[in-house]
Amino acid sequence: MSTTDPGAGAAHDDVVASPGTSGTDRPGDLAGVPDGFERLWTPHRMAYIGGQDKPTDADAGPGCPFCRIPSLPDEDGLVVARGETAYVVMNLYPYNSGHVLVCPYRHVADYTDLTGDEVVEVAALTQTAMRVLRAVSGPHGFNLGMNQGDVAGAGIAAHLHQHVVPRWGGDSNFLPIVGRSRALPELLGDTRARLAAAWPGAETGGTSADVDAKG
Ligand SMILES: [Zn+2]
Repeated sequence: MSTTDPGAGAAHDDVVASPGTSGTDRPGDLAGVPDGFERLWTPHRMAYIGGQDKPTDADAGPGCPFCRIPSLPDEDGLVVARGETAYVVMNLYPYNSGHVLVCPYRHVADYTDLTGDEVVEVAALTQTAMRVLRAVSGPHGFNLGMNQGDVAGAGIAAHLHQHVVPRWGGDSNFLPIVGRSRALPELLGDTRARLAAAWPGAETGGTSADVDAKG
């Protein structure tokens, strides 16, 4: 680093209060570096901040959340439904309330690596998830899709997962655009319970008959 004034580096930080601007109500007087993000305080997500849900590497096994989740009880893993080769789980980082992921049990990254049975069941679970979400929360539309590879935006690229995102008119309000934040009206565990109860074949599903009727 070459600079004409080596001492200037100490004062480069934006949070250093300028003379005459100090006051207890100014963020610059408190710890931290502003980064442009607003904070919606969500203490119920305390369980997730330890990093235990981030993959430790690209390998299968306990380091991969999508490999680990099926070994947990449904409530703990936020599993909505289980099939023969694939399962449905709540997204921990939902775009909207009811955002679920359809994952093969097998640790495969690429869509072309799925077996025929897995392709069929991932598709069928996606259809059922749409029917259940329609019955439970009446979305106006959906975004469906898979991000293939880190460069395409996959958060956990090593284990394929299909997003099912319910959409409502007006759900893209000012918060994501201006505030770079999302507001979710329901806790994940509550959403999971409602979807699981409405899933076809659920023993306690009060609305599963409605879902079945829509075929
Ligand atoms: Zn995996």
